[in-house]
Amino acid sequence: MASIAIDGPAGAGKSTIAKLVAKKMDYIYVDTGALYRAIAHFLVVNQIDIEDEEALAKACAGITVEIKYENDAQQVYLNGENVTPFLRTEETGNMASKSSAKAPVRAALLDLQRDMAKTYNVVMDGRDIGTNVLPNAEVKIYLTATSKERANRRYKELIEKGEAADFDKIEADIIERDERDMNRAIAPLKQAEDAVLVDSSDMTIDEVVEAIMTAAKAI
Ligand code: C5P
Repeated sequence: MASIAIDGPAGAGKSTIAKLVAKKMDYIYVDTGALYRAIAHFLVVNQIDIEDEEALAKACAGITVEIKYENDAQQVYLNGENVTPFLRTEETGNMASKSSAKAPVRAALLDLQRDMAKTYNVVMDGRDIGTNVLPNAEVKIYLTATSKERANRRYKELIEKGEAADFDKIEADIIERDERDMNRAIAPLKQAEDAVLVDSSDMTIDEVVEAIMTAAKAI
């Protein structure tokens, strides 16, 4: 089985790009952020204090997370329930960004991610795929963009959906999330030594996909 690992900060366009690359390669797209969001959803619903080590360890030990594909789209099941519709909210994202730094949360998801890559050809996106989850991935990409550009994309997305958006707040949130992901003790976000750096700030989606397909030619 072959793997393409795409890591990078929030809002760099990883999922859009990874989906397109997966389609072109006929690989399965694995969105690992959704797995961290599923556990975060559980922690919010059950009001678990993530600073209470015992409570967090106990919660994580009792959680089963599964990935299924329905109509070509990844669905995440938590203890048998499809929680996918609850994962994209701000609240879940904020909790995921904090709880993903905790050891029991990361440990609960490691085997699932590795098993997916053993079973299928995958394009897997996240923060620590090339550095930690799949250190032997055939292709590693570090996809980034300036915080201004990432905030700009998110701002436009919200405006298009008719939602309220405050550019400065969006950028501040992005910077805060980067800080947390890059400075945590376990599996921090960083470019793997053998990863290809793609800065998408001034690139179109097609150009980014093309850059990754060029890197993937060797597979
Ligand atoms: O990518 P997404 O925003 O859905 O990820 C939610 C959170 O999960 C991120 O803020 C990050 O802290 C965490 N995450 C992680 N490792 C991954 C994927 C996501 O720590 N491989």
